[in-house]
Amino acid sequence: MSRCILALLFCLPFSFLSAQSYKKIHKQAIVTDSHNDIISTCVENGYLFDSDLSGKTHSDLKRMKKGGLDVQVFSIFCGGNQKDPYNFANREIDSLYAWVARNPNDMMIVTNGKELDEAIRTNKLASMMGVEGGHMIEDDLSKLDALFKRGVRYMTLTWNNNNSWATSAEYESGNQKVNGKVDTTSQKKGLSEFGKQVVRRMNELGMMVDLSHVGEQTFWDAINTSTKPILVSHSNAYTLCPVFRNLKDDQIKAVANNGGVIDLNFYAAFLDSTAERKLADLNKRRAAEREALKATGMSNDEIRTKMRDSYQKELDAIRAPFELLFDHMEYIIKLAGIDHVGLGGDFDGISVTPQELTDVTKYPLITKELVRRGYSKEDIFKIMGGNFIRVFKANLNE
Ligand SMILES: [Zn+2]
Repeated sequence: MSRCILALLFCLPFSFLSAQSYKKIHKQAIVTDSHNDIISTCVENGYLFDSDLSGKTHSDLKRMKKGGLDVQVFSIFCGGNQKDPYNFANREIDSLYAWVARNPNDMMIVTNGKELDEAIRTNKLASMMGVEGGHMIEDDLSKLDALFKRGVRYMTLTWNNNNSWATSAEYESGNQKVNGKVDTTSQKKGLSEFGKQVVRRMNELGMMVDLSHVGEQTFWDAINTSTKPILVSHSNAYTLCPVFRNLKDDQIKAVANNGGVIDLNFYAAFLDSTAERKLADLNKRRAAEREALKATGMSNDEIRTKMRDSYQKELDAIRAPFELLFDHMEYIIKLAGIDHVGLGGDFDGISVTPQELTDVTKYPLITKELVRRGYSKEDIFKIMGGNFIRVFKANLNE
């Protein structure tokens, strides 16, 4: 090497060198996100996942590839009032199968370790499924079995709604009201005997028990019933942001003892406790304008675009700082250790993302920040997907 080149190398700023290494580490990592709601978003709006949805959604196939995502768990979701929730879930599963069939070179359904390895080796997006809400099994274990057979590998025991066998965090927090009053009858019931059977059956099948969205008593009942490591697919630390969807310190420690993983949610209001009030104020103003625009005969798409453009600055002001995600991550690492944290961004299920982390193309920024904070390559691999994959494999009967 000539003296000139050596001198040049010494002059290279540190940021350039670390930029090179973070890109390489991001490429080598099995970048995994355990919760994305793009299926429901596409079903609701008639969007095609394999078309360019920039400006409309947080996710589409091309942008997931651009973000270096290797494994995505797609959420199979319907709200508590949906009629025929089991059939609805199956139609969403049909959507994912159709996307994969149309894009066989870029996507692959993954239900076990062998398929996961193949997807990574052939550079296809490993497409997994998680049911968000136990109401979709309609109190019937044979429907749980059928969902497993179709490839579902996790189920949150509840969504925000209660079901007949498990109580949700939203109900426990008193956020859900019946006729304007807190529904105390359904609070703090935890898992029923049938609910415990559901957990045991999930353990037998090899479907991860997901404790995002569940109430505290349900959390304890489930983690004490499960014989396998549990997943918390999209929640954060309650001490840093005291909202009903986040985990308290003793819950975080229990996940560590159980060998499970907590995947972090990017929703601004679950990272920053001041965001919720600001968002509610903004939503009130937006609702009034939406109604006014509707009255002019504008289409839903036109209204959405106009609203997005006119409220962009206000939305940006509500966005939690990007660093806050790492505060939650490091808090959990301090309490639970490096083996129990990962990413479950909730893209397309959340209205406001943190600053910078504006869509699925931005995952490399997380690796970059971890490099900047001095994490080793091995630890970055664990956070970016290794921990989730460990829990996935520990649940399988292979
Ligand atoms: Zn959710």
